[in-house]
Amino acid sequence: MTEPRRPLVAGNWKMHTSVPEALNLVTSIRQKLEPAPAADVVLLPPFISIWPVQQLLLDELRIEVGAQDGFWEKAGAFTGQVSAEMLRDSCQYLLAGHSERRQLFGDTDEIVRRKLDAALRAGLRPLLAVGETASERAADQTVDVLRRQVRSGLTQLEPADLCRCVIAYEPVWAIGSGQTALDTEITAAVSGIRQLIDEIVPGAGVMVRVLYGGSVTSDSAPAILNLAGVDGALVGGASLDPDEFCAIVAAAEPDRS
Ligand code: PEP
Repeated sequence: MTEPRRPLVAGNWKMHTSVPEALNLVTSIRQKLEPAPAADVVLLPPFISIWPVQQLLLDELRIEVGAQDGFWEKAGAFTGQVSAEMLRDSCQYLLAGHSERRQLFGDTDEIVRRKLDAALRAGLRPLLAVGETASERAADQTVDVLRRQVRSGLTQLEPADLCRCVIAYEPVWAIGSGQTALDTEITAAVSGIRQLIDEIVPGAGVMVRVLYGGSVTSDSAPAILNLAGVDGALVGGASLDPDEFCAIVAAAEPDRS
């Protein structure tokens, strides 16, 4: 019998909030969060707020913290970069491969793989975001894109490391658009991702959490989080509103298997 997968809801704050605003936001989320959420909750503030947010949450068991990005070299002459290694004392998760990084900052599959490796070396849990663009969707290339991104990110990993990863299926066209993917698209993508994981390490697919991301709100969350194989959500815009975000967490179904 396999262990059930505990749902996970992550809030990607992107480039929003000053440090005082971040502290206000996390304080409010904390107050509004259910006493015992059915999901792991992870907040991804901008770099400058990771440490202050984590300090505020020292006695808070319901919320973990993650970074939106992280460089693969441990330290050195890399002006402006923050390494995964530097983040190890401040957070538990590291997001790699978000479409905004891929599209705006040139993060290739190889760069994403290096960041994911660096996260694991630093003892962080990687959150790997994958997904097709609107034109790839229109050209019926979703399966190929997911195959390329998942295989590139995970193929070289040891089984134990692979099981520490969380995958977020985020169709690029759905992010920030107000439009979610169809239920059938989400379930097909999520089960396809699990099959790919099984091809890399037989039997691992059932152990890795696979989330959906792309315009999730408190309205759409109950249906999305109830879909077969969906273990939670990566939430952007709605994670900046404490009521919205906590309602999405409350929509999480108990452990999946
Ligand atoms: C995201 O940034 O990963 C995301 C899913 O954003 P939004 O929820 O705003 O579409």
